[in-house]
Amino acid sequence: MKAAVLFKPYELKIIDNLIPTPTSSEMLVKTAYCGVCGTDVHLFHGDEGSVPMIPMTIPGHELSGILVKTGEKVVVDPNYFCKKCKACLNNNPNYCENIKNTGVTINGGFAEYLIAENSQIHKLPKNVSLLQGAFAEPLSCCLHGLSKISISSNDNVLIIGGGTIGLLMLQLCRYYGVKKVSLIDLIKEKREIATSLGASNTYESINMITNEKYNKIIECVGKKKTCQDAIKICEETGTVLLFGLTKPEEEITIKPFDLFKRDLTITSSYINPNTIKKAIDILATGAINVEKLIGKIISLEELPKVLANSQLRVDGKVIVSY
Ligand SMILES: [Zn+2]
Ligand SMILES: [Zn+2]
Repeated sequence: MKAAVLFKPYELKIIDNLIPTPTSSEMLVKTAYCGVCGTDVHLFHGDEGSVPMIPMTIPGHELSGILVKTGEKVVVDPNYFCKKCKACLNNNPNYCENIKNTGVTINGGFAEYLIAENSQIHKLPKNVSLLQGAFAEPLSCCLHGLSKISISSNDNVLIIGGGTIGLLMLQLCRYYGVKKVSLIDLIKEKREIATSLGASNTYESINMITNEKYNKIIECVGKKKTCQDAIKICEETGTVLLFGLTKPEEEITIKPFDLFKRDLTITSSYINPNTIKKAIDILATGAINVEKLIGKIISLEELPKVLANSQLRVDGKVIVSY
């Protein structure tokens, strides 16, 4: 089978590998689609993702495929939790001491086949396509993020960043019936997509916001300025979710006095503890339009140049199709 192996930073090679053989607790999945995530870009550049990458691993964690044994459509939850350690027993499985991450520490979806433990495999309902299934994992991360800021129908939400995550967050906010949700993005086309997906207002930058007050801010860019903007624009007593993955060494400036004066809460969110089933259920309701988030669908051979060149990723989600 063809597989993309990350030998070391910047060296992703498409090679011929043997199709892996599952044990009795595993199944073989023929990959259908695998999304390119910001985390994959970080890993390609040698930065840490959710955990440090093991060299020679096949990346890719946003995947859907077909169970070779039964022909069923499935998604693979990439994070393996041991269910035995202290963190798992305390219901914080994302801090599992024995965590394994598909596409980071074990082989992932940038290959024609992968094996996954039975516990990680979730069947897709009839009305959810394999292409939609490739969004179950990023959606599950968004669901964990939203659980940290308890959104409700009283909230006026502002999302910073109209990339895949920002546009998923926007649609989830609409699904959960927030009062209003708006979005900031520098790129006009992204703002237009946001409007078509139900954003009340869109802005080029926080400077364009004049009267409107936002009490829940979701930062989905991961840059210093946008993190600082998120804190700056938040209404008194509001909550800021710093969701975008920054570079590990990034620092931002915060004035504690300013937080005190506005009684702000700043929070964050780490991967997806058991939220993938919920993500599939939401996809099945039809509430999430994934087509508008897709920039291009590529072959595995095109993956190295897409990871190396940010210009090839600006149009939206890049998805490898097999
Ligand atoms: Zn991801
Ligand atoms: Zn554990």
